[in-house]
Amino acid sequence: MKDLFLTLILLISGMTGLYAQDSLPVPAEKLKTWCYFLASDEMKGRKNGSPEMKIAANYIASVFKDAGLKPFSAATGYFQEYTTPGRNLDTLAERNVIGMIEGSDPVLKNEWIVLSAHFDHIGIRQPVNGDSIYNGADDNASGTVTLMALAKVFGGMEVKPKRSIIFAAFSGEEMGMRGSRWFVAHSPIALDQIKLDINFEMEGECATLGKNKYILTGDLFTDFDDLLDSYNKNTSWECANVYKTPPGVFQASDNAAFAVKREGDKLILNIPAFTLVTTDDMSVIHKVTDEPQRLDYDNMASLVGYLRGLVIFLAADPLNIHWDQEAFDQFYQKK
Ligand SMILES: [Zn+2]
Repeated sequence: MKDLFLTLILLISGMTGLYAQDSLPVPAEKLKTWCYFLASDEMKGRKNGSPEMKIAANYIASVFKDAGLKPFSAATGYFQEYTTPGRNLDTLAERNVIGMIEGSDPVLKNEWIVLSAHFDHIGIRQPVNGDSIYNGADDNASGTVTLMALAKVFGGMEVKPKRSIIFAAFSGEEMGMRGSRWFVAHSPIALDQIKLDINFEMEGECATLGKNKYILTGDLFTDFDDLLDSYNKNTSWECANVYKTPPGVFQASDNAAFAVKREGDKLILNIPAFTLVTTDDMSVIHKVTDEPQRLDYDNMASLVGYLRGLVIFLAADPLNIHWDQEAFDQFYQKK
């Protein structure tokens, strides 16, 4: 009897464990494995133009391929190759890694949502306490891994979201968003068909903001956060817009390549594009201490589960997202 009781307990706890695991589309362990690879010392801080950036690009492309994403180009597969000036009068050959899925709605599939993250970092620099490798775990192996997980989720989905989705892993961000700017300038699809970009940065640190919360950069210039708030009511996640992001960070990542265009000497808000981060603590960014063991993979796995639902919702929503050019001008273009 005692044995039977024990067996029942084990069975029930086992089942609960299984169920909890199933509610996370990509397990935390998987995210951790990917992140530990990209942010390992062997990857030498993923500096643009380095052989390690090629390894990283191949790694991401292999996940896109396994996920069943359609490659960016018939000629170059998942890679969008470009050259960009280096810091020493040299030329760097770099590549973005781009995959796609086609939407399931006959009309909406002609419109696109871009999910993006940069995978480069700043390489090897001045040693601090004997460590000279800037691993870039949170900035931005964490965002890259979030993107890879979403590729796996949506690539494997039988009925795809209504709009089509581009998965873009950008290089060159740390040199001034070179990869994303190249993508926008040489877009494989008409830019006016891109309805939204959600860019992922720093999805591993969450100690200061707390679990199940994120910040949307640019929330002062848009009503998109209101749409998120209405969706989030039925989820365990919250857009922490009470903190109202410092407007400066809005142009500090690849969303800016989509969101802002220059007309003469004026900056005009363009495609709705925002960066989603789970921390308001910038003290570890670009430090040798940005290492993979600091990150919260359970929170990241929960975020991926949340994003699965959010992207399905957004892919079907009218997406009447408005910019507040005046609020933007007040911050960026005051004389
Ligand atoms: Zn970054």
